[in-house]
Amino acid sequence: MVLITVISLVALIAGCLGRSGPAPVQLAHRQPLTRTSRTSRTSRTSRASRAPKVSAPRPPRIVTSGASSGRWLVYTSDPLRAGPAQVLCGTDKVSLVAPSQVAVSESAAACHAQLLLTAQNGARASITVTIPALAKAKAKVRAVSVAKLYCFANPAGRAIYITIDDGWTPSTEVLDLMHQTYLPITAFLIADAAKEYLSYWKSFVAAGGLIGDHTVSHPYLTKLTLAKATTQWSQARTDLGRWLGQTPAMGRPPYGAFDHTVQVAAARAGLTSLAGWSATMSGNRIQTWNGKPLVPGEIVILHWVPGLGHQLTVLLAAIRALHLNPKPLTVASFAGIAPQQHSLNGD
Ligand SMILES: [Zn+2]
Repeated sequence: MVLITVISLVALIAGCLGRSGPAPVQLAHRQPLTRTSRTSRTSRTSRASRAPKVSAPRPPRIVTSGASSGRWLVYTSDPLRAGPAQVLCGTDKVSLVAPSQVAVSESAAACHAQLLLTAQNGARASITVTIPALAKAKAKVRAVSVAKLYCFANPAGRAIYITIDDGWTPSTEVLDLMHQTYLPITAFLIADAAKEYLSYWKSFVAAGGLIGDHTVSHPYLTKLTLAKATTQWSQARTDLGRWLGQTPAMGRPPYGAFDHTVQVAAARAGLTSLAGWSATMSGNRIQTWNGKPLVPGEIVILHWVPGLGHQLTVLLAAIRALHLNPKPLTVASFAGIAPQQHSLNGD
């Protein structure tokens, strides 16, 4: 048993160490219109040090952006307020889809444009964005024959990825955190669990949450036939899409148990990739795969269980202390990352 554990750990390390440098996430240039008093004042002169402190509202920044379901999504540092109607690049309508998430609807050709953002605190920014041709962005998410599993994702920008599994105990504390701050969370939902609390998951999506496929009923997929495993993935994917308006492109096998058949089943169900994890939380303790502090690119798994709100608060404090930035986990997050070869231990 000990030997098996050691072998799996070595396998996990071997799988996870094969990382190569991924392409950085495309970020927009930042050109805030409003300046905070902090940036224009220095403390070098006694005059400045005597001046009363004025804390101007912080202008919103773009944290990351990427294509999703044929739209270009822009994630911002602060919750936004709905501004005047904007059209970019001639035809692209801009809409606020979540407090800190803006979607640009359709772009036939790539273009540069000025995106106006107004934070809920009133601070405004005009930011130059590069919107790719969405037809091209869509083509990137092409059908695959095997959905590979990754336990790390793109580390650019000191990114860290927060994922929460199952869904039997929804948490209002998590929703509150998502409303207070930019907090991209991917929920890998069991369809049977999601069905019980649909209104909660709709609020979760409205707050900017992302949905992943965690099967219909959480079986060990490695013990099922290809046909049954495919149904577990596809039924959950279809139902979650219909209920929540987000059809998952990514799945996570229950218990981290996967093999070639499970990966083929996922691809047949329309999933593009599978997400593993490199760090877990047990109680309020963060446990990484190598026992070291979290590093950029790690995927953290939590569960929708009582006490999740507190766990997440502890995790966010650690993330802040390590100067890491939570980023949304998308199919594009795995570009250039080596896939994991062996099953993981967990649930
Ligand atoms: Zn699970």
